[in-house]
Amino acid sequence: MNATGLLYLLRDEPTLMDPAPPDVDAQAMDRRRDDETHPCLGCGNPAQCAVVADTKLGPRWLDLCHGCFQEVRVANS
Ligand SMILES: [Zn+2]
Repeated sequence: MNATGLLYLLRDEPTLMDPAPPDVDAQAMDRRRDDETHPCLGCGNPAQCAVVADTKLGPRWLDLCHGCFQEVRVANS
């Protein structure tokens, strides 16, 4: 699946992502990235980036490896 397809899938199926607290700050993102292990939602490899996606169900964690993060950034711009 390409990055655009992934974004559409996650928009329609936000439950694929873990719920994020409503007040995520940079420290919380660092903690999730550095202290926890999550699979990349794009390819399944260990995620190296954690960002928060605004979904119809509220904020959700979007865990991505570097490669998928770059692709999603491009697809989302
Ligand atoms: Zn990936």
